Amino acid sequence: MLRIGLTGGIGSGKTTVARIFETLGIPVYYADDAAKRLMNDDPELKKALIDLFGESCYKDGTLNKAYLASLVFQDPEKREQLNQIVHPATIADANVWLSKQHAAYALREAALLFESGAAEGLDYVIGVSAPVHLRIKRVMQRDNLSQEDVIKRMATQLQDTIKLKLCDFVIVNDERVGLLPQVLSLHDKLMQLAAQPMPH
Ligand code: ATP
Repeated sequence: MLRIGLTGGIGSGKTTVARIFETLGIPVYYADDAAKRLMNDDPELKKALIDLFGESCYKDGTLNKAYLASLVFQDPEKREQLNQIVHPATIADANVWLSKQHAAYALREAALLFESGAAEGLDYVIGVSAPVHLRIKRVMQRDNLSQEDVIKRMATQLQDTIKLKLCDFVIVNDERVGLLPQVLSLHDKLMQLAAQPMPH
């Protein structure tokens, strides 16, 4: 089974694209959702977070995501500390999940695929690209954030121009080029690649 990464900047449309692949029967691991689940359920992770950020990161035993987000988006050092705890746990969890899948290929969706080291061990990576102004508008609407807040979150990620150069395939989600035909065509290509012996 091929292991395929799916990445792109905040608001590029990774999740939207991943949902289309799911309708084609492709299993998808959503790194963000998994990280949230692990932060709520994994006792070791919970303890490490409380040690670092204090009891306020949990409210009645549940992760207080808004508090944690506000803390780390203002403080690069804290953000790095959080990532160093959460990323390895999520990568390990994703690898267990991937080893249990039986499709021709499976996707691992993550915004920080390259930044976190999660791209290692993947066969190919798909990047989702969208113009910055659309990404800002989408995230402002979806998360009810100010333009300034979205730009701050963007600044914590690898620039799209760099990120997309590292990808094997790019899907353009600019609301002009059709998304569905691109996903269908890439799905065909990946099915063909999955049927071939791996070159490495
Ligand atoms: P994040 O990294 O923040 O999780 P993402 O890359 O996964 O973002 P999505 O959640 O898929 O992005 O998309 C962001 C928002 O933009 C969503 O509300 C989604 O419905 C909307 N969106 C994405 N693509 C399109 C499109 N082609 N047309 C209209 N709305 C779109």
